[in-house]
Amino acid sequence: MPQHSSQTNSSRLRLAVIGGGLTGLSAAHRLMELAGSLPVAPEIVLFDSSSQPGGVTGTVRQDDWLIETGADSFITNKPWAVNLCRRLGIEDRLIATDDRFRRSLVLRNGRPLAVPEGFMLMAPARVGPILRTRILSPWGKLRMGLEYLLPRGRQTDDESLASFVRRRFGRELFERLVQPLVGGIYTADPELLSLRATLPRFLEMERDQRSLIRATLKQAATSRANEHAGSGARYGLFATPAGGISEITGTLTDRLRDVATIRSGVTVTALRPPAAAPETARESRSGWQIETGPGEIESFDAVVLAIPAWRAAELVNAWSAELADQLSQIPYASSAVVVSGHRLEDIGHPLDAFGLVIPAIEQRKVLAVSFASRKFPGRAPDGHVLLRTFVGGALQPELLERNDQELIELVQSELRELLGVSAPPVLARVARYNRAMPQYHVGHLARVDQIDALAAGIPGLELAGNAYRGVGIPDCIHSGEQAAERLVAGLRET
Ligand SMILES: Cc1cc2nc3c(=O)[nH]c(=O)nc-3n(C[C@H](O)[C@H](O)[C@H](O)COP(=O)(O)OP(=O)(O)OC[C@H]3O[C@@H](n4cnc5c(N)ncnc54)[C@H](O)[C@@H]3O)c2cc1C
Repeated sequence: MPQHSSQTNSSRLRLAVIGGGLTGLSAAHRLMELAGSLPVAPEIVLFDSSSQPGGVTGTVRQDDWLIETGADSFITNKPWAVNLCRRLGIEDRLIATDDRFRRSLVLRNGRPLAVPEGFMLMAPARVGPILRTRILSPWGKLRMGLEYLLPRGRQTDDESLASFVRRRFGRELFERLVQPLVGGIYTADPELLSLRATLPRFLEMERDQRSLIRATLKQAATSRANEHAGSGARYGLFATPAGGISEITGTLTDRLRDVATIRSGVTVTALRPPAAAPETARESRSGWQIETGPGEIESFDAVVLAIPAWRAAELVNAWSAELADQLSQIPYASSAVVVSGHRLEDIGHPLDAFGLVIPAIEQRKVLAVSFASRKFPGRAPDGHVLLRTFVGGALQPELLERNDQELIELVQSELRELLGVSAPPVLARVARYNRAMPQYHVGHLARVDQIDALAAGIPGLELAGNAYRGVGIPDCIHSGEQAAERLVAGLRET
């Protein structure tokens, strides 16, 4: 698509979405869905730096392998991803995780052990398995059990995950189970991770019911009763399209191509609000100006900014230093995913789980290994297994300085020791995510409230993405859709 300096056609409403990850695609799609409610038909243009839309998600087919280089599934107890798939007509493509392997492993003294059945990120929903586990020492179990009797802690606005778990359950449960299970999701340092921004339900449990163990046991009893009554959820906790996450991004892209313009491989280098537009602009009327190169300027009536916060800060800095300052204070971590395909006969471990998480105190060079082809069918040819190993994150950024071959060798050596992988992989590739994962540090939600307040004072601009109120796929879809809805509501008012 050639870049150009466009003359705005004043009879049409021009709407821009900057960023073509899941958030931006969802925003553009929602704009498309709502177009009929506007008095004038809008022209929708999506700008994305990457060569194809999808952002940090990506599905690659290689012979009989189906490889997710980024996200591989989404949680179904947040409704927005399933709802979107329904509207896109691909709900029947969703598959659930393979029940036979539904458990996780955690490393203890170099050996993978099963996470006790019913352990819900922080608290046990079943008593027997946590009493029997070898992951915790007898003292660790006793200290954890004391939580049942502990009074409520001092109620604060926010607290780090590490501080909360140590306070309620003791150090051992934190180091051995919670840090690897929760820290891994966010590739974060749990000493800094905000509990309110990531797992608010545990804060609420303490506030409302005092003991998390009590609350979790009660909740588990209720859901068991619901299952018996036949009101179980339609999907398991995680789902994905049979052909991978790119079925969602691909379908969104196809739908959009019919009615919108997608500018792939085009980076927005400057964004100017109407009031700041230079007098000399060759535009027939004032509007949001989007610059994509020297002299490449287009005008829009409204803009959704669906890019990482630090990139958004660069675009708004010239005319809202305060907003830029808040945006740039959201830290980001980098990580790499090393995908490797193996012959099953080359692996000593039965891989009878969805994956292995690794506590920081084990001092290994990998964060987690997802057994991708155990989680979902159709990911590896017969007799083979597909693994996805996570490296780097907030706690080990220095490892990402290694080149791809070095990372593959590092992972190979770790997999040999952890899972008895005795031969080189038959397939290996590295995907790097540089400053892609926002870190929700203590105080994050207060900062996001401030960002929202500042953005609300800028008509025609909406912010969306994983930087704000959730990093998971359903959250990003919701964030993009909400931004589109706010934007359309604003346009209708004016
Ligand atoms: C390795 C990894 C694994 C994950 N696994 C899961 C998982 O299994 N389940 C889950 O729910 N979530 C997972 N996540 C999280 C989730 O995938 C992401 O939070 C989500 O996809 C982010 O989408 P986004 O659109 O907000 O941002 P991005 O995907 O970062 O998209 C932003 C887009 O904006 C573009 N862009 C940036 N600047 C500009 C500019 N100036 N002009 C034009 N375009 C620009 C970029 O090129 C990019 O395409 C994972 C994340 C990572 C990194």
